[in-house]
Amino acid sequence: MFKSKGFKIAVISILSVIMLLVLSYFFAIKINMNVNGDKELVVEANSDYIDKGADVSLSFFGVKTPLEYSCENNVDTTSIGEYSVVYSAKKFGKIKTEERKVIIEDNTPPEIIVSSKTVKVSLSLMPVTSDKINFEFSAIDSFDGDVTANVTKEVDGDILRLVATDGAGNQNVTEVKIEYVDDKPPVISLKGGSLVYVKSGTQYKEIGYSANDNVDGDLTSKVKVTGLPNMSKSGIYVVTYGVTDSAGNTTYATRKVAVYGAGYADAYKTVKPNGKTVYLTFDDGPGPYTAQLLDILKSYNVKATFFVTNQFPKYQNLIGRAYKEGHAIGVHTYTHNWNVYSSLESYIDDFTKMHNLIKEQTGIDTKIFRFPGGANNTVSKKYANGVVSAIANQLTSQGYVYYDWNCDCNDATSASTSRIIENVKRQIANKDHSVVLMHDIKKKTVNAVPAIIEYCLAHGYNLDVITTETPLVQLTIAN
Ligand SMILES: [Zn+2]
Repeated sequence: MFKSKGFKIAVISILSVIMLLVLSYFFAIKINMNVNGDKELVVEANSDYIDKGADVSLSFFGVKTPLEYSCENNVDTTSIGEYSVVYSAKKFGKIKTEERKVIIEDNTPPEIIVSSKTVKVSLSLMPVTSDKINFEFSAIDSFDGDVTANVTKEVDGDILRLVATDGAGNQNVTEVKIEYVDDKPPVISLKGGSLVYVKSGTQYKEIGYSANDNVDGDLTSKVKVTGLPNMSKSGIYVVTYGVTDSAGNTTYATRKVAVYGAGYADAYKTVKPNGKTVYLTFDDGPGPYTAQLLDILKSYNVKATFFVTNQFPKYQNLIGRAYKEGHAIGVHTYTHNWNVYSSLESYIDDFTKMHNLIKEQTGIDTKIFRFPGGANNTVSKKYANGVVSAIANQLTSQGYVYYDWNCDCNDATSASTSRIIENVKRQIANKDHSVVLMHDIKKKTVNAVPAIIEYCLAHGYNLDVITTETPLVQLTIAN
């Protein structure tokens, strides 16, 4: 029954080999796997990610042979987050896996691109705020792209600071130097008009000017005046006023000066003098429109005569101004009330009050006057018989001269501005000496003055003020 001894040995040997193989499988065959590089790493978004792979081998009793492995890699660097790279190898029924953690992050701040490291800013924009500065820049982020819209700007002294922030909160700062520049020229203001009339043979007197600069302040003393008129030759001259500020900005202003010949030819139209003189006279003021009238007269360098009252006390100071600006001042009445004609005494009382007020305002003892209603008025008869004659006698004996008018612009009626202008043109046409009655307490009359002056100057009329030497224009006394 028993097999031979040799058979037994053989069976035992075979069983031993099988045992050995089984043991070897469990203990001697091994898959080795090492992940190359870091097992956990942070990678910048949008950069290239190259996996370093793994080192995989099979070892059998210390003898290693390389082994193929598979790798599952879904890392997307365009998307922030955590990823796993999984390596796996299989052999003889054995399986080995390893994992690498890859974190995609955006840690790169945006780049600010500026066209220049300096920016010029006009001093006229002071105080400067960032929104007033015109400066080109852009901000590009490696992950978010164009983040220009997220850039904040602030002005810190002479620094413009740009701060760009990306979606991950990474910030970049760029500083641009502000260079303040004065690019605003000074401003020249001319006193008087842009066209003035000056009689030839007289001396040209500058009416005045001022210059102001936003940085240098008052530059009036630096103004250079050129193109002064040749006062011996009729014509239009352009006087130029120029001034330059410390930053080199220059500004100019001009004024035309019309030099006219004897007898008041209009230089502009080279009209020959006609030998006639017009005296513009204004009664009943000063009032609300007198200042405007004085401005007009000044702009033409033309003088007039004011027969003044104290009807509007708050404008009293314009009597002084009118006198200072070369106009003649005469007494009309203080109250401009008809009852001044009640008696010689009441007239003289009122007259004296006005005369004194003029003296107060001007320092002069005026010798010219005009009767309310004119010397030929008959209203005074209702108050006192012969009173105008009595007044005329008394005042004339004291050296006073009264002036009526021979031209009435008719502004006491409903005449319009254009009608007033036409009335004056028509009435001055045939007289050597025209004393024109006007009222500066009427706006429509003041508005008519520029056209009247231009007409007179353009047609060779002399425009003058009334003095006691002026040829008498008096109406016949009727009471
Ligand atoms: Zn009057």
